[in-house]
Amino acid sequence: MNVTELARHLRVSPQELRDILPRIGFDIGQRAIKIDQRLAQRIIKEWPRLVRELKNREERERRQEEAVAAVRAEQRVVKIGSVVTIKDLANSFGLPVNRILAELMKNGIFASLNEKIDADTAMIIGSELGIEVVVENAADNKKDEVDLLEESRRNQGDQADLEVRPPVIVVMGHVDHGKTKLLDAIRTTDVVATEAGGITQHIGAYQITRKGKVVTFIDTPGHEAFTAMRKRGARVADLAILVVAADDGVKPQTIEAYRIIEEAKIPFVVAINKIDKPEANIEKAKQELANQLNLLAEDWGGKVVICPISAKQRLGIEDLLDTILLLADLEESSRLANPKLEAIGTIIESHVNKSEGPVATVLVQNGTLKIGDTLICNEQYYGRVRALKNYRGQNIKQAGPSTPVKIIGLKATPEIGDVVRVGQADRSNKVKVATKSYNQAITRVHDNGSFGGQTINLIVKSDVFGSGEAIEESLLKLNNEEVAVRIIHRSLGNITEGDITRAEANQARIIGFNVKASAQVEDLARSKEVVIEQYEIIYDLINKIKKEMQDLMQPEIRRVDLGRLKVLAIFHFEGDGQVVGGKVLDGSIKADCQLEIVRNKEIIGQGKLLKLQSGRQDVSEILVDQEGGLQVSSQTTIEVGDILQAYREDKLFKKM
Ligand code: GDP
Repeated sequence: MNVTELARHLRVSPQELRDILPRIGFDIGQRAIKIDQRLAQRIIKEWPRLVRELKNREERERRQEEAVAAVRAEQRVVKIGSVVTIKDLANSFGLPVNRILAELMKNGIFASLNEKIDADTAMIIGSELGIEVVVENAADNKKDEVDLLEESRRNQGDQADLEVRPPVIVVMGHVDHGKTKLLDAIRTTDVVATEAGGITQHIGAYQITRKGKVVTFIDTPGHEAFTAMRKRGARVADLAILVVAADDGVKPQTIEAYRIIEEAKIPFVVAINKIDKPEANIEKAKQELANQLNLLAEDWGGKVVICPISAKQRLGIEDLLDTILLLADLEESSRLANPKLEAIGTIIESHVNKSEGPVATVLVQNGTLKIGDTLICNEQYYGRVRALKNYRGQNIKQAGPSTPVKIIGLKATPEIGDVVRVGQADRSNKVKVATKSYNQAITRVHDNGSFGGQTINLIVKSDVFGSGEAIEESLLKLNNEEVAVRIIHRSLGNITEGDITRAEANQARIIGFNVKASAQVEDLARSKEVVIEQYEIIYDLINKIKKEMQDLMQPEIRRVDLGRLKVLAIFHFEGDGQVVGGKVLDGSIKADCQLEIVRNKEIIGQGKLLKLQSGRQDVSEILVDQEGGLQVSSQTTIEVGDILQAYREDKLFKKM
């Protein structure tokens, strides 16, 4: 039947017909002129129902989109508490619950309508729907720890109890530019004399005393300092040292580190390191700082203090310290804290120790942390302080403002950047949290147990934090009910042996983005059968993973009827096939199609067409009224008079 004829029959224009057919499950192609008779019959039969369903579906979608557009247009501001159920959020957004669930899913959270999400998650969902979400704490009297931290800064209790707390300094810069070496040099320059004894422990921070004043340095490994600084804005450090190697100049992480410092609005000093090296070129480094970051040195008429140093030979360290401490003195009034309050602080290090259980270092930012205190993090009970250890590994009874201290007795491992506080626990209150950290969100999805699909486990290593974050966000968006990417771990820098071990333990593979793997690491990967994939372009990576996810998703099989043939002669058996001859009654028979064998109007067997011939020539199609020979593979023996119904099975891969 002609398409125009069918269109007339259905009282639509041929173009409308071509447009509607694929939307109701018949894809005849935009250029088709003829339609197979049987297919046409089926279309005619099912047309009224399918078109009605299509209209309903489109109407529903249109209304949802209109609702979203209306909400957007209103520039609505919605106030919520620090925790909200999905049902309530949908109500206050004025949108169907399904719409909220869909947005959550895009962000890697699979939840039911009565489950609770935290305010951050609600804000993310709101921003995608054009709704501003404002957190109103007074409404439910429950406050996020970060708000409490802010509040504890403003409301410090009795003025008489206020003290200036020690400055907290973070060292940032590109990998291998000497951050660790500098922190080591500083540590041994002025170790707190009275605390002599004990061995220096890496707990994420240490303290020194210089000219009678205590100073705290954060010494988490490079990428973790980034994480801690990024997570909630830099509420952790008061000042920063930006390290730039004199032989390497401004590099991607230098730029990134500077952006973070800039965003945090904290005073900083630039340390140009490795000046002992023959290749060192201080002027060139300064030039790059000026050109790429607009950081003009004082002697070039700018305001940036630049200290040339050699961390290795300990040159210029004293000057650097004096400079940064001078800046710290100027900011003293912004560092008032009250040691008499209950403690609140930020996690700067966290891991599980085989003998001690979860262990974390908190940088106390206000109040004093004591043994026996109950800790709350993410509004959940995280345990009681059983013991406190300082950076020298010594047991201490309490830790005041700006003191880094290792906590023993935790029930769970908080994340770096989490704020913890001392308070009363409401143990029943479990909340779904989507931090920007994909890792956490997706792990929760799996912990949740409701995700029955397949996962692709990845470890992502990138050159800069921003690209790692972008990769994570893009991958997160691909997650659906059937397949989800799970990021086991994400960090900056080259691929290490530790990454391989972690990948092996988690059945993950490693994605490297603009990073390297040494020959040794590659050998280890081979022996552990861990796959390392290297990329330079995010788009390539996303496409590859998308393709893989698509392959893992079950395609929808759609049957397309081709035509019918009446068997007129049985020739012989050949190999595993029967050779028969017949005439096409309607439609056409195409090579490689599937067959149904019909006898007395009943389907009695299935077959596959192996070969199609017309006049002893192999052909790809025989048309209506033509005769041809067919080699058919089937369990059923075909007889004269049987009808062979030809069809094709199209696999429809779901679009992502
Ligand atoms: P990070 O990745 O920024 O922590 O860098 P590291 O502190 O680990 O230093 C990277 C490499 O540079 C190490 O091999 C250090 O020994 C070396 N290094 C660091 N500071 C200096 C320096 O002042 N002079 C020289 N010559 N080498 C240095």
